[in-house]
Amino acid sequence: MANVLHTEVCVLGGGPGGSTTALQLAKRGIPAILLEKSTFPRDKVCGDALSGKVMRTLERLDPELCAEVKRDARGMPSWGVTFVAPSGRSLRVPFSRETGLGEAPGVILPRLHFDEHLFRRACTATGILVIQGTTAKTFTRTANGWTIGTTTATGSGASISCRIIIDASGANSGFARQVGGLHLEPRHHAAGVRAYYSGVKGLDPQGFIELLFLKDLLPGYLWVFPLPDGRANVGLGLRSDVVKRRHVDLKALLIRLLAEHPQLKDRFAGATLEGGVQGMGLPLASKRRRLSGDGYFLVGDAGHLIDPFTGEGISHAMISGVHAADVAADLLARGTGDAGDAGDAKQYDARVWRRLGQELAISTRLQQLANQAWLFDFVVDRANSNPALADTISSMFTDLDLRERLKKPGFYWDLVTGNKLKA
Ligand SMILES: Cc1cc2nc3c(=O)[nH]c(=O)nc-3n(C[C@H](O)[C@H](O)[C@H](O)COP(=O)(O)OP(=O)(O)OC[C@H]3O[C@@H](n4cnc5c(N)ncnc54)[C@H](O)[C@@H]3O)c2cc1C
Repeated sequence: MANVLHTEVCVLGGGPGGSTTALQLAKRGIPAILLEKSTFPRDKVCGDALSGKVMRTLERLDPELCAEVKRDARGMPSWGVTFVAPSGRSLRVPFSRETGLGEAPGVILPRLHFDEHLFRRACTATGILVIQGTTAKTFTRTANGWTIGTTTATGSGASISCRIIIDASGANSGFARQVGGLHLEPRHHAAGVRAYYSGVKGLDPQGFIELLFLKDLLPGYLWVFPLPDGRANVGLGLRSDVVKRRHVDLKALLIRLLAEHPQLKDRFAGATLEGGVQGMGLPLASKRRRLSGDGYFLVGDAGHLIDPFTGEGISHAMISGVHAADVAADLLARGTGDAGDAGDAKQYDARVWRRLGQELAISTRLQQLANQAWLFDFVVDRANSNPALADTISSMFTDLDLRERLKKPGFYWDLVTGNKLKA
């Protein structure tokens, strides 16, 4: 009979969500098992953009780890974003008014390396047992929690008995589907493809990430994210219902756009594709899901927490991981046998939505507006001739109140008339 391991919390998946959860549990003194199906270092299809929100969450979690990530020479500090409108005209939006001074707010670092930093730190955290190369397969609810059946490359692995499961096993989570009842809904899901290129011309020396809202791709976009030495992470994402309706082959479309689009073809003429073009799904938070139930929490992509406008999900995985660990620690501290019944576990949902709900609602609105090519053209043209509007857009990245104004019709009136935009 297979081994049975006992623990308080079992975290499924060692990506940013799972590793952050494990680190926060260690801080709270809760023994846990971190179960990971791959063997690190492992790649994850992603744009590799670590936003200011990622870096701030990391700084709070573990300042030394944050410094280690910033020092990694395989990454590129990022000071802003360039939007390219369907008209081809662009708008450079800095993340900070002091571009180039001090530390950059964001970083672009391949997930192969970023995830490795976090995972390795979780491996050395007190009270955390990390098991790699082992997949969580079956989940049985018991009187005191859960029994998890696992498999390895060579057959069945140890069973794990725990009080609480924190599922951070990503976009294809079996647990979220089977137990949490979260299913792929094409209207609230996107498909993305990513490739690495070397020898790309015209990359921004200050690591501005580029989002190209090409007419045929709306409401999706193509990205070019610079890495050191002329390398770039390049990809595109589009809502899954639109992919289906238009019968788009995203990999072929990416290759074609880089070879033929007037904005891109010269920059990629001498560039070399490293490896292949890879695809992966993005479960979007344009619909609010239940993130907890009897003895479990869903973190990051397993809880469909990706920003529906930008595609950003790393920070949400980390933020939800911290909340899941905190709520689990509070419930276990009560010392009762029913740690995390569905009623108690709801505290987790409340905390996540209090922290992320407002910005996700705004991003959902922006995603709906992103269908309108004329609106992009108009905003970009207007902002290029109106420094106050450019500054307003720049502030939107850090100032939620300003993003909130986008939901109000008056904002668009001010935009048209040039009225009152904050300088
Ligand atoms: C094309 C694309 C581009 C993106 N670009 C960006 C970007 O630039 N910036 C950004 O912030 N976000 C981006 N995202 C979103 C981001 O990649 C995810 O939101 C993020 O990886 C979520 O982290 P996670 O820890 O929840 O899941 P993951 O990073 O997917 O980690 C899940 C882990 O669980 C493991 N696992 C899976 N099943 C099991 C199992 N049964 N048992 C044990 N382990 C298991 C996996 O091996 C994996 O290590 C992008 C996504 C895509 C697809």
